[in-house]
Amino acid sequence: MDKKDIATVSKTVEILKKYDFHIKKAYGQNFLIDVNILNKIVDHSDIDINTGVIEIGPGIGSLTEQLAKRAKKVIAYEIDKSLIPILAETLQDYKNVKIINEDILQADVKSMINEELQACCDIAVVANLPYYITTPIIMNLLEQRLPINRYCVMMQKEVAQRLCGGPSTKAYNSLTIAVQYYTIPKIVMNVPNSVFIPRPAVDSAVIKLLSRDEPIINVLDEQFFFKVVRGSFIQRRKTIYNNLKQSLHEINHEDILMALKKVNIPPVTRGEALTIQQFAMLSDELIKHT
Ligand code: SAM
Repeated sequence: MDKKDIATVSKTVEILKKYDFHIKKAYGQNFLIDVNILNKIVDHSDIDINTGVIEIGPGIGSLTEQLAKRAKKVIAYEIDKSLIPILAETLQDYKNVKIINEDILQADVKSMINEELQACCDIAVVANLPYYITTPIIMNLLEQRLPINRYCVMMQKEVAQRLCGGPSTKAYNSLTIAVQYYTIPKIVMNVPNSVFIPRPAVDSAVIKLLSRDEPIINVLDEQFFFKVVRGSFIQRRKTIYNNLKQSLHEINHEDILMALKKVNIPPVTRGEALTIQQFAMLSDELIKHT
């Protein structure tokens, strides 16, 4: 261990005390205090001297520091302005780090990539995410189709399992389909609560999402496809026909039945039983009736 590492209990407590920093639950602040875990996350993220890293929520800089040692450049978005002077001190030795004091959900990440990471032939998002907004962060970045090669991020274990779920499993829903449309997800490690200050109330896991060059399937209209997917899950225990009747107001019930028949999906099926490919066929059939 490097004597300067931020991610130890003593160093973290020292930094928090020095700045009289009070952890904000509302921002999902759970700081990592284990360098081994951080190194494993960085190993899984496959970064090297050619990689530009985007980090979300550097906190006091514990992960940022380990990323900076291996990557070409690290751009870290931190919403909490009281962490900015702390990061200026803890990361002062790493000239390849830039902190942006912004909400990641409001940030223009595309322009940032063009300005800051144009020299990087490989771009990765690596983060210990704020759990209260994991889904919007991931979906917002994926939907923008940014030139990001992969994501290696810590999140609530339950959400990670959802992203990796398959048809007819409890975890499978519209979020699973959206993530698998753009990426290949894999849980790479489970992380115990004991490596955080404060300890989160939920279990954690690190997930890797490898961006696909092209979405897993071709659809006539992506927006409509996602509308059909979301609509099919609005009430999990209802049949796909009942859910679609309720969610696709622009299509009459007979046409919904006809489309289901055309793609060989019995109207009594539940959304959770359908593969992404079946959803694609169904949405391409349904759109003909809009
Ligand atoms: N990376 C640090 C670590 O591993 O110790 C801190 C991780 S902590 C789980 C989440 C971090 O995300 C906090 O620093 C929090 O202030 C920041 N954060 C919360 N909401 C954010 C947002 N909308 N945009 C950017 N950062 C955010």
